Amino acid sequence: MIETIRGVILAETAVGDYDKFMTVLTERGTMSVFGNGIKRLKSPNFVGTQLYSYSEFTVAQKGDKYYLREASLIESFFAMRNTIEGIALASYISQVAVDLSVEGEGARELLRLVLNCFYIISEGKKPIGQVKAVFELRALADAGYAPDIVGCNGCGKYNLNVYYFDVEGGNFLCEDCFRRRNADFEDALRRESESDGIYSGARLIMILSPDVYVAMRYILYSRPERIFAFEIRDGALDELCDVCEKYVTCHMEKNYRTLDFYNSVVRKKD
Ligand SMILES: [Zn+2]
Repeated sequence: MIETIRGVILAETAVGDYDKFMTVLTERGTMSVFGNGIKRLKSPNFVGTQLYSYSEFTVAQKGDKYYLREASLIESFFAMRNTIEGIALASYISQVAVDLSVEGEGARELLRLVLNCFYIISEGKKPIGQVKAVFELRALADAGYAPDIVGCNGCGKYNLNVYYFDVEGGNFLCEDCFRRRNADFEDALRRESESDGIYSGARLIMILSPDVYVAMRYILYSRPERIFAFEIRDGALDELCDVCEKYVTCHMEKNYRTLDFYNSVVRKKD
């Protein structure tokens, strides 16, 4: 069967000198496509099959495998390569997106989000940390891991000075409820370290400021085309990056090497 579908190339594996397998995120989910001879510069499909390209693929399906017939480039996002942080983030986003391996409606949302992030990275008009945090939180939420941050998990209050966010539980408590549930509250607080949060029993609790809470709500509930349309001050952005990153690591149960690399290049720049 031959079909044409649009998708973005999130990973590739070389086979010999001229062929490669590509992992392509489409609105139906990810598919593995084999391209014969596409690494040759003279191949008519060379341009449309570069990593991170969004292209229209004509493929032939044999069993559960897809073979490339033709790839025509829609958008290369080439400018992501202008900065090392940009390319590092693109590779982390790609890895998480492949791991989420959602299907149906979720895949359509994920494809849209990845394209949106790649576009914003290319443009370079938003802080790179903001792109990362938006991707992390929204991608996980769309895949079914949305935190419940509508109100305090104990009393329902939501206009607070401080939020005790339970990373694994994906919910938060107000200070009163947190104290009530943690007889050893003062002890717990003493162990606080700025960016690592505190532990309540075995639970990782991040203490969030109102700015971060508002940003998280925005990321979760805004329309996809408006998802980057918010401003956040530098200090709060660092907090937001921290909590979103820990949320991914906790719920994907995985430490991403691409994330370590991203953090190493961003820290070097600071
Ligand atoms: Zn409460």
